[in-house]
Amino acid sequence: MTVHHGGVEFYDEDKVIDNIRNLQSWSRTEKKWIDIPYHFMIDLEGKIYEGRPINYPGDTNTEYDPTNHILIEVTGNYEIQEPNTEQLNSLINLITFLVVKFKISLNNVKTHRDYSKMTVCPGKNLYKFFENGYVISSVEKNMGKNINR
Ligand SMILES: [Zn+2]
Repeated sequence: MTVHHGGVEFYDEDKVIDNIRNLQSWSRTEKKWIDIPYHFMIDLEGKIYEGRPINYPGDTNTEYDPTNHILIEVTGNYEIQEPNTEQLNSLINLITFLVVKFKISLNNVKTHRDYSKMTVCPGKNLYKFFENGYVISSVEKNMGKNINR
């Protein structure tokens, strides 16, 4: 599983659906990809959108091979913006759901820049929550809750 950011600044007044449609048409016309490169996208409110169907590998502009990865994108540019609590909680809940459903090892939950030297993706302000262990430890806590239910 690989976590990305959109790489383009995105704020409250921007339209999520337009953004997704633009990404889809850019992917198809400019890049000749089959669809949006990501399987899931998370907006500023923490809403989760399904992108490319999960049974098709994602796409990337960099040298890493996304085959067998689930690609999650957090909309915005987190070199510049700060992710908010809703986004982080959604990201943690989505990762929890996916690692349980597809039996993915937490060692395989990483960010784009862990695979590619060509990118700062998902941006330093989002990356720091992986670097300090917050995302993975929160996923572990979530999983514990599910098991004890
Ligand atoms: Zn990326």
